Amino acid sequence: MARQTNRRSSYRTQEPVEVIPIALRLVVIISCAVAIVATVYGAWGASAPVDAISGIPLPHPTPTTSIDNRTPPEEPPPTPSPHPALATPHPTISPIPPSDDAPRIGIVAGHWGHDTGAMCPDGLREVDINLEVAKQVVDRLQTLGYQADLLAEYDPRLEGYQADALVSIHADSCQDFPNATPPASGFKVASVEDSMVPDVEDLLVACLAQCYAARTDMYFHTNSITYDMIYYHNFYEIDNQTPGAIIEIGFMKNDRAILTERTDLVAQGIVEGIVCFIESSRP
Ligand SMILES: [Zn+2]
Repeated sequence: MARQTNRRSSYRTQEPVEVIPIALRLVVIISCAVAIVATVYGAWGASAPVDAISGIPLPHPTPTTSIDNRTPPEEPPPTPSPHPALATPHPTISPIPPSDDAPRIGIVAGHWGHDTGAMCPDGLREVDINLEVAKQVVDRLQTLGYQADLLAEYDPRLEGYQADALVSIHADSCQDFPNATPPASGFKVASVEDSMVPDVEDLLVACLAQCYAARTDMYFHTNSITYDMIYYHNFYEIDNQTPGAIIEIGFMKNDRAILTERTDLVAQGIVEGIVCFIESSRP
């Protein structure tokens, strides 16, 4: 499967934006930026385990049991009935209007507008988790002065989408996986298999993985990265110069508490990964 033809001659560069948002972004990335620079430029400790797919160091030991996270293929369109546990209040800080020169980031709320994604026996739906987190990520990015678009799973704007980054947010299965070692818990990040901008997307994946792990204290569940992730359809819809990544933010069964009760941490981990990437990419 080949990615679409190049619609841009080179990776976008960004002009400096307002002083206050830049200061805020530096505060945001300070917790994980140093680790990312070490990761990307090979200065990481030699003893750190490395993900075989992305090549990034792993925060915790590699799991040994494969997990298939295929979500139901076709479900009725979601109705507005978020699970009660997802009633997390949004940040109260008012977004500042981004300048036209501010970096643009697309955030896909996985399954939104298409299907429910995974479901738990009590009715907890993946799409509701994804949407709640995606909204918070967009709000926080806008507060930092970025342009941020909230996108549906098959949003028409994804066709040829040009931005400084696109991140699609999903949650993992609610199944038990009793033989998984370690248990079906943790997150993972992936970019497209046949990237046209591999170095840039490696940086995006590394930033997301390191910052998300640092913020949530979850481990990278590397061997459950699926075909569906590395050939994810969004990657073939966006402009092939737009760096894209998909993040599975945790398992709906074993990570249920953080996915439903601490969506602020989940969202902040993603924001920090994005800011790390954007600011590390600046000339
Ligand atoms: Zn999903």
